[in-house]
Amino acid sequence: RAKSDRRGTYRFFEPEMDAQLQARRLLEADLRKALANDEFELYYQPQINIRRHEISGFEALLRWRHPERGMVSPAEFIPVAEDIGLIAPLGDWVLERACAEAANWPKDIKVAVNLSPVQFRNRALVESVDKALTRSGLSPSRLELEITESVLLQDNETTVATLHQLRELGVCVAMDDFGTGYSSLSYLRSFPFDKIKIDQSFVRELTSRADCLAIVHSITRLGASLGMITTAEGVETEEQYQQLRAAGCTEVQGYYFGRPQPARDLVFSLFVEERREAL
Ligand code: C2E
Ligand code: MG
Ligand code: MG
Ligand code: MG
Repeated sequence: RAKSDRRGTYRFFEPEMDAQLQARRLLEADLRKALANDEFELYYQPQINIRRHEISGFEALLRWRHPERGMVSPAEFIPVAEDIGLIAPLGDWVLERACAEAANWPKDIKVAVNLSPVQFRNRALVESVDKALTRSGLSPSRLELEITESVLLQDNETTVATLHQLRELGVCVAMDDFGTGYSSLSYLRSFPFDKIKIDQSFVRELTSRADCLAIVHSITRLGASLGMITTAEGVETEEQYQQLRAAGCTEVQGYYFGRPQPARDLVFSLFVEERREAL
């Protein structure tokens, strides 16, 4: 009886499990072909320096144009790419493309590239960054690498050593999604980051919650006293921007100032008068 019960249970779950597994397998297979089929593209979102009223750089955000599904979110496919060992070649592609495209931009504009924690487990990372810089001719000071706190969560000594090696190449290192990890503050002690990116979850509730405003004030003050740039992510409204400016934030990034766009559509100056006045 127990046997038939169990079989009944399996039969109950089977179709759904199957469908999920199949969808995942399909995604993996499509992802494996995507690089060779040239289905990836980088979009770029501006980062604005508040005090200087200028675009200081653009963050490269990976896009996958799936032949049948259309745009697939990086939040969906990056974890899969990490699982199936594809993030190293994909990450290399991102570095190469971002450096090559940024080499055509005005000389004072930087490009920021996101790195996955899995790329840090791969010893070739420093070499990949070096190669992308050399091949593109981009000055290392114009490349910024964004890492999340999960990078520092995994190991420690090797990771920090790798960060120092990257820094020795002359690139900048930013901590992404600051404030969302378990011990954000202690990570600031393990490596002297050039920049802290205040997570969008704090910015979203900036104008409705006093605690979020207090946290943002503390982070900008902390960043300033450590000599780090502070960038607020996910700025969508004038009110949020005004609060961030008053809090002493160095830079802002978000839909209010520009959505991620293909390289060919980028505009490098804040030529829109109203926008300039808003600043
Ligand atoms: P992230 O690095 O924190 O990037 C910021 C995300 O917020 C981007 O989502 C961006 O499009 C979105 N965003 C920007 N401004 C606003 C705003 O005003 N409001 C809202 N609601 N969202 C805004 P996206 O492009 O979907 O990327 C999601 C995440 O995927 C990134 O978070 C990053 O962790 C990862 N990712 C993207 N490209 C790459 C890549 O080339 N390599 C790696 N390893 N990860 C990447
Ligand atoms: Mg980022
Ligand atoms: Mg972020
Ligand atoms: Mg994020």
